[in-house]
Amino acid sequence: MPDYADLLEKNRRYLWNPFTQMQEYLAEEPVIVERAAGVRLTDVRGREYLDGNSSLWVNVHGHNHPDLNRALVDQLGRVAHTTLLGSANVPAIELAERLVGLTPDGLDKVFYSDSGATAVEIGLKIAFAYWQRAGEPQRSRFLTMRNAYHGDTIGSVSLGMSEAFHAEFRPLLFGCDQVPYPDTYRFDGTASECAEHCLAVLAGHLEHHGAETACLVVEPLVQGAAGMIMMPPGFLAGVERLCRAYGVLLFADEVATGFGRTGRMFACEHEGVQPDLMAVAKGLTGGYLPVAATLTSDALYDAFLGDLASRRTFYHGHSYTGNQLGCAVALASLDVFEREHVVARAAALGERLSRGLQPIALLPHVGDVRRRGLMTGIELAQDADTRQPYRTDQVMGVRVCRRARELGLLTRPLGDVVTLMPAPAASDGDADRMLAILHEAIAEVTGP
Ligand SMILES: *Cc1c(COP(=O)(O)O)cnc(C)c1O
Repeated sequence: MPDYADLLEKNRRYLWNPFTQMQEYLAEEPVIVERAAGVRLTDVRGREYLDGNSSLWVNVHGHNHPDLNRALVDQLGRVAHTTLLGSANVPAIELAERLVGLTPDGLDKVFYSDSGATAVEIGLKIAFAYWQRAGEPQRSRFLTMRNAYHGDTIGSVSLGMSEAFHAEFRPLLFGCDQVPYPDTYRFDGTASECAEHCLAVLAGHLEHHGAETACLVVEPLVQGAAGMIMMPPGFLAGVERLCRAYGVLLFADEVATGFGRTGRMFACEHEGVQPDLMAVAKGLTGGYLPVAATLTSDALYDAFLGDLASRRTFYHGHSYTGNQLGCAVALASLDVFEREHVVARAAALGERLSRGLQPIALLPHVGDVRRRGLMTGIELAQDADTRQPYRTDQVMGVRVCRRARELGLLTRPLGDVVTLMPAPAASDGDADRMLAILHEAIAEVTGP
């Protein structure tokens, strides 16, 4: 076993972790993972942890899954990577066919990249360039939902500006139009009044600016990084209807919600929504390798056709686009989805969470518990009844997750929203244990 103190020192000297305040991280004896199996991670000190957020929303079938491992080894014996720029490879083509078959009707072509952020950037560039080619260059504006999160590159941050994460980069961003997202927790009224209100604001915006709008980007059903905010029923279908009415492309960012997390393969399915563009990433390879995809309709794809001299080509690509190892493991992951009925399992596990969350919702400092499928947010508050939030310097979310870690559960807070998102591979017993740890950590840290 590698030596913890030695690794920690090298972490301090050489490694800069993402989304991490290194000063505090290094002072807190960080977890250094050495191996994992199923939903259990083991660190270099031999301590075991339950993977409470699917290793940040990516893992699906558990770690070290024999089928996924085998698919990688098999592919490795043939070739690890060749370029998709002007040539192709076997698993990239086969995976594209599978994705087109699985995603909502009207998504016909697959453009690969390697992260959720790049999948979003590609979608916004395709939408923009499409209108140039379609003779409506005035459609150049992007419409997004308030508090959306679409990744950390400059283009995706322009779409999904988070005050907490991104405010200092504002001068680098291109402007987008924003409409309110239906946050029923903060709306004074019923869920359906909230949806109606937000749809009316969207309709009003499109009435004035619809003809200049290239596309509307939305996290369907659940705004993840905003704090697991759930859309009221009917809202997503309403958004699609308005996009159609004003000729605006609909771009679904299913990076978090895709691959079973909401209890369906894709969140759009819940309301029969058929977007023109869709971004997928996190769960695509079962959490093994960084492969992402932007799916588009044939109508968009066709606008880029022409001879070389026409200059209609989509000039975008990444060195590792369509990576064979990644596509092979994604294909193996989709096989496991079918063979083991993983989406039905995700839905059933979600129902179990719903029961197990009831006692947590009754704690005196839990203001709200939100869940769709496996995507769960537990919002802490000074007082459950008034929902008075904690001061940010109390860092309650961080403290609760720190205590959960001591008790053997890894997850991360979003502000004062403690997230729980077990992989569908978690057993009922694993899920119950995760809930029990969260219950104890919240009760202990937030007090009576
Ligand atoms: C995580 C996330 C992204 C960014 O994906 P990365 O792979 O981290 O770049 C984009 N959109 C949504 C909705 C996400 O949850």
